[in-house]
Amino acid sequence: MKVLVINCGSSSLKYQLFDMTTEEVLAKGIVERIGLKGSQLTHKPRGKENYVQEAEISDHNKAIELVIKALTDEQHGVVNDIGEIDAVGHRVAHGGAVFSESALVDDKVKKEIEKLIELAPLHNPPNLLGIQAAEKLLPNVPQVAVFDTAFHQTIPAKAYMYSLPYEYYEKYGIRRYGFHGTSHKYVAQKAAEMMGRDFNELKIITCHLGNGASVTAIGNGKSQETSMGFTPLEGLTMGTRSGDLDPAIVSFLMEKEGLSAEEVNQVLNKKSGVLGISGVSSDFRDLEEAAKQGNERAQLAIDVFVHNVKKYIGAYVAVLNGLDALIFTAGLGENSAEIRSAICKDMDYLGIKIDEQKNQVRGEAKDISATDASVKTFVIPTNEELMIARDTKRLVLDT
Ligand code: AMP
Repeated sequence: MKVLVINCGSSSLKYQLFDMTTEEVLAKGIVERIGLKGSQLTHKPRGKENYVQEAEISDHNKAIELVIKALTDEQHGVVNDIGEIDAVGHRVAHGGAVFSESALVDDKVKKEIEKLIELAPLHNPPNLLGIQAAEKLLPNVPQVAVFDTAFHQTIPAKAYMYSLPYEYYEKYGIRRYGFHGTSHKYVAQKAAEMMGRDFNELKIITCHLGNGASVTAIGNGKSQETSMGFTPLEGLTMGTRSGDLDPAIVSFLMEKEGLSAEEVNQVLNKKSGVLGISGVSSDFRDLEEAAKQGNERAQLAIDVFVHNVKKYIGAYVAVLNGLDALIFTAGLGENSAEIRSAICKDMDYLGIKIDEQKNQVRGEAKDISATDASVKTFVIPTNEELMIARDTKRLVLDT
């Protein structure tokens, strides 16, 4: 069975074609700058040379058309015929309180995704466009929507309710939803597998540390609490997002700086986080470099980030009443030994202790715990695309 996984952003489309018999990636690639000048497709077929095509790619229909052409091309292709694609899996940002599982796409599912645009105005519209375009070009192929929020639907009400007038929860659905669910679930299951233990019996904290970052507490195989909230702005300090702050700061800034709601939203999402503190960059590689050169604000941004992650780990050990495994994943979590080391420093009270030698790892699944640590610490590269492909296969075969 071959499954095409699609992740649509407003101006980009990432894809991977899986052979689900072996779970091998046959080809992957990205279409960039959709609807803008200088759009292009970069296609990476397995065992063949990479292929870059510059073209006018006006919309998501055109983007998927090019992807299908590349996948079936005589020279760069990996399948002979479009008919070999058995199913398409789509990453969808927001499933609200409606989707606690992935769903086979039909008119009802599309309507729900559309309704949820109110909660995810930047992400759900391009996700829906991707689904519609794939349906048009692959009309008889089943499509599956896999939601970033679904894994967190098990969070209990005491953890998802905000202390606001209850009517706002009823009227607008204001509550914690959480994001990066597919990633948290994947790395947690992988850790259980590496430990040779039953996933449902473990207490796990997963740290997805990338440009967007979140921490999740997993107990009984379920998400119990997570740091992102109503939107992906809450929780940790991120590349450009503020994470947690006193909500009174918002109205204070609006008043003092004369900012509109839209403008203050921009500040919190695009100009804050480690970029805002350091004034250097949102990328930790630049921050680490600048800090080494003596830039104090770059060091401060790193310190704030590390402090934040530590705080969440401590809180989630309390939520879970213990801990068996701590996991680092995503760009920063998979690649930066320095950040992992700083987060795990002085956590021996909780049983967290890493071996600095083992910690010198990058992009590879590995147990980095010290031999005398009671908690296992892992680096596990995330693979959201594989999770989407697996769910797609399961749902298509089940129906
Ligand atoms: P992601 O959003 O998961 O793609 O992660 C992207 C972020 O990971 C970048 O913005 C960097 O901050 C971080 N990152 C990636 N590679 C490294 C590295 N080698 N060292 C430090 N940070 C890294």
